Amino acid sequence: MTEQNLTDSRYDVVVVGGGAAGLSAALVLGRARHRTLVVDAGEPRNAPSAHMQGYLSRDGMPPAEFLALGREEIARYGVELVRDRVTDVARGEDFTVALERGGGVRARRIVVATGLKDEMPDVPGVAERFGRDVLHCPFCHGWEVRDEPFGVLASSPAGVHQALMVSRWSKDVTFFLHRVAEEELSDLDLRRLAAAGVDVVPGEVAGLVVEDDRLTGVRMADGAVHSRSVVFVAPRPVPQTGLLERLGAEMDETPFGTYPVVDPNGLTSVPGVWAAGNAIGFTEQVVHAASGGYRAATAIVGDLRMADLDAALGA
Ligand SMILES: Cc1cc2nc3c(=O)[nH]c(=O)nc-3n(C[C@H](O)[C@H](O)[C@H](O)COP(=O)(O)OP(=O)(O)OC[C@H]3O[C@@H](n4cnc5c(N)ncnc54)[C@H](O)[C@@H]3O)c2cc1C
Repeated sequence: MTEQNLTDSRYDVVVVGGGAAGLSAALVLGRARHRTLVVDAGEPRNAPSAHMQGYLSRDGMPPAEFLALGREEIARYGVELVRDRVTDVARGEDFTVALERGGGVRARRIVVATGLKDEMPDVPGVAERFGRDVLHCPFCHGWEVRDEPFGVLASSPAGVHQALMVSRWSKDVTFFLHRVAEEELSDLDLRRLAAAGVDVVPGEVAGLVVEDDRLTGVRMADGAVHSRSVVFVAPRPVPQTGLLERLGAEMDETPFGTYPVVDPNGLTSVPGVWAAGNAIGFTEQVVHAASGGYRAATAIVGDLRMADLDAALGA
């Protein structure tokens, strides 16, 4: 990690965010001999988890180790990385990238790989245990907790889908309706839940029961306790796309957050600005984020090559 004075430095590409998406883009850009800077605030989404699953050949690796290896790899190709936060990106002949600690740098192209934040349901204990025994994604954690007694906390009627999905990993699933009224579930929902053997419990959840630093149950507002060792929740995804919005990128509002409209390589509607990873969609897993960063980088390499050749021709 570099600590030099970056003010007024000019890079071919500044990558905002040093998670899987940003580091993957940086690796490809460095290997293509582009002067590249990664600015990373150092708060990757999966930090609460001890292990990262489902990334071929890295299954089970701690997320911090995965990123440390990525940082080592980009350094081999001369890519610079600073621990800082980009507070603004302004368009001009070059982009001007403002850094939180003051000053800024210039760049010909930008990759926004800023990820998303998970906003937890406001049930006491849920946020504290997220990534341990409060989980959101069966593909990330289902195997590790298979056959345990699961609870699923509904945030909306769409929680039915999560309850049905996780029932692949355990036959003992209780679906807590919490603030969702039973009448909001369709007849098909109820029949599918019954077919999957999922118990449906109406009523508000008041909190989690934790003993010896382990989740042991779900406490209802009426005081009843259901013994459960794992609870699945549906955090509200909050994409970190403020920079793109300020740049005037076309955005698409979805039930899962507002994301930039991008082409298959992550090019946004702002010429010269690409996006990758959870900054373009909440379902992007680590392997997708790395792939998205790679695709954005190859597109940028082509874009810069043609721009330089055309400039030479013009000259
Ligand atoms: C608890 C949990 C467990 C998960 N487990 C798995 C799993 O097992 N397998 C799997 O494939 N996926 C898993 N995921 C999903 C995984 O976290 C994401 O797929 C992955 O983090 C997306 O990578 P990314 O690079 O887009 O974003 P991130 O990894 O979130 O990286 C974004 C980076 O950008 C930085 N940043 C944000 N804004 C700025 C700014 N303005 N300036 C500078 N830096 C900035 C952030 O601090 C962060 O370091 C899990 C998610 C959670 C919540």
